[in-house]
Amino acid sequence: MIKSIYKSIVPEGLRVSLRQDLQKLIAPFYFGNRFYCNCCDKSFRAFLPKGNIKREHAACPYCGSLERTRLLYFYLQNEVQAFSRPLKVLHFAPEACLYAMFKKLNIEYVDADINPALAHHVIDITSIPYKDHYFDLIICSHVLGHVPDEEKAIQELKRVLKPNGVALIVTLINPELRVTLEDATVIIPAERLQRYGESDLCRLHGSDFGERLEKQGFSVEKIDYRQALPDTLVQRCRLGNGQRELIFKCTH
Ligand SMILES: [Zn+2]
Repeated sequence: MIKSIYKSIVPEGLRVSLRQDLQKLIAPFYFGNRFYCNCCDKSFRAFLPKGNIKREHAACPYCGSLERTRLLYFYLQNEVQAFSRPLKVLHFAPEACLYAMFKKLNIEYVDADINPALAHHVIDITSIPYKDHYFDLIICSHVLGHVPDEEKAIQELKRVLKPNGVALIVTLINPELRVTLEDATVIIPAERLQRYGESDLCRLHGSDFGERLEKQGFSVEKIDYRQALPDTLVQRCRLGNGQRELIFKCTH
């Protein structure tokens, strides 16, 4: 009841900002040595649980990073040198900690979301208002599962990516599904939750996700970047089980 009143009177953008401020106030209670967040460079005795089916020690108490964010951060830093080069970056559904990192740089950085409360640039991923071959780097994590016209979205990502650029695409994958599960008649949130595991997903990607990207003309490399890192670091940073963290490196 109180939650719904709060939601109805406080705009979503302000709620997000208040949540982030509150997070920073409570984070000191979690400080310790067991876990480490590479996104905010802080150590904790515990991470916070996250998800409909709770994943223990998933979210950083300070910056809110998830397993996939921390792994992507390592990849961007080590393999793309994304924080030390003057790249033109397009970032869909921007994670707060990656946003903060890019905003520190003197680069052209476009944070984008269809929801104006979640980014500074309101952009429909199926109609990106930039000319062809504009961006060096595109980050699109856990977006495509939510977009009704996924094919058009992938085509648009390819269109605005420079020929020598790279798009890093991440999504929720059920590795037991050979073929992506989707049904255009499933539109009720409760039904989507039951079928796909999240109430706002349009589909649940299977192990054919890379093929779906290739079908629109991308060359795709599937990267489990946990394999490239020491196991102690994977455990200490809580880098996930591979269902939400695989990086699909797309070029063309
Ligand atoms: Zn953090």
